[in-house]
Amino acid sequence: MSAHAIEWNAVEKEAVELLSRYIQINTINPPGNEIEGARFLQKVLATEGIPCEVFESEKGRGSLITQFSGSGSIPEIILLHHIDVVPVEEDKWEHPPLSGVVLNGEIWGRGALDCKSLGIMQLMAFVLLKRQGFSPEQHIVLAATADEEAGSVKGAEWLMQHVPEKLNARWVINEGGGLGLKTGQSNLHFCQVAEKGVCWVRITFQGKPGHGSLPHGRNCVVEMAKAIEALAEHRSPFVITEPAEQFISGIAREQGYMPAAEFRELLDPAQAEAVLAAIPEPVLQLVLNACLRNTFTPTVTKAGSKTNVIPGECFCEIDCRMLPGTTPEDMVMTIEQVLRAKGCRNFSIEILHSSIPTASATSTPLYRLFESTLKKHDPKAQLIPYMSSGATDSRFFRERGIVAYGMQMESSLTSMERMHGHNERIAIENLVLGIQVLYDTLQEFCK
Ligand SMILES: [Zn+2]
Repeated sequence: MSAHAIEWNAVEKEAVELLSRYIQINTINPPGNEIEGARFLQKVLATEGIPCEVFESEKGRGSLITQFSGSGSIPEIILLHHIDVVPVEEDKWEHPPLSGVVLNGEIWGRGALDCKSLGIMQLMAFVLLKRQGFSPEQHIVLAATADEEAGSVKGAEWLMQHVPEKLNARWVINEGGGLGLKTGQSNLHFCQVAEKGVCWVRITFQGKPGHGSLPHGRNCVVEMAKAIEALAEHRSPFVITEPAEQFISGIAREQGYMPAAEFRELLDPAQAEAVLAAIPEPVLQLVLNACLRNTFTPTVTKAGSKTNVIPGECFCEIDCRMLPGTTPEDMVMTIEQVLRAKGCRNFSIEILHSSIPTASATSTPLYRLFESTLKKHDPKAQLIPYMSSGATDSRFFRERGIVAYGMQMESSLTSMERMHGHNERIAIENLVLGIQVLYDTLQEFCK
């Protein structure tokens, strides 16, 4: 190791500028155009003398992989994030979503949380280790993928099919966690150790076409509206899974909303609804609700093309999220039951995309190291194992037996609503904390 200490003020300046520039690169998916983001990262790495490979699964869809070679022969750990971001409703933002503007200690823009900030945390930790002359025992891989927000077919999945040897490791650090809760006595940081499965479905309704001036009672748009309402109102039964048990038990001890024993009653399906209703933090309510049941969220509708024409067909799409133990077929069956109970007719259901729920154990040296490193930087920190409602690229690794954790530092639950929402932004102090925790963790874990 070189003896000189890291100038964290300079690192902060550098990281803020890099994140701001990274946000300015339009990688909204669709169409993605992640190649621009990959080239940006490649240039930054090149100035550090670090070569990398950029893979294009198809024109414009770039992913990047580079490696910090250790003295051993096995890749040990992969630092992973995705380059693409979700679309924006620009007029709803206080500052343009691709501006990367820095204001009052925060960096604004699409991807500021999900997950270009994680990309910059990882890049900075990686580069700092190099600059400090660190020599790891095993290889550390840095990977940035395309297409995560649209199912990963042109990103992680493509890489797994075409260059699996480049993504072979024992551990993965990815997005999905790090969000948290300040309870007064503790700062809770959620480490994503499990994620729900995804099942996106399209429900197509057939009806009788006709003139808008002659309503006839077989209008497919009306059938669809009934179906959407029924699914939005549907509440699946509470199911206690192991990741939910870990998460709720972890928070129960630390939260200040109610006595711990009362909070733990979330794990009793008969009590859970009442306990949920008594939690005064709305985002935590949503998170816990999603952690305890399968969900069905209508998101896309397509019906009709002209005001005076009754269409013969229309469809809606539902974003369904499954707990461990549920299959896409179970979700389709539930939708069918809910729609039939509402009296809906003439519909068909098609699965557009699905992925299974996955989990990693918490009884590992890396998890424990995250815990101790975090405490070093924030003595009030508690690491809580968390099952995210959203899917990440971690599933591809967990399916191959690789342990994957979602660790990005952002200590407020409000941020969760801003991911995929309006006015996404990250506090500079959290960006820096993320770099510090990651740097220290890697230095210790890979030495
Ligand atoms: Zn993401």
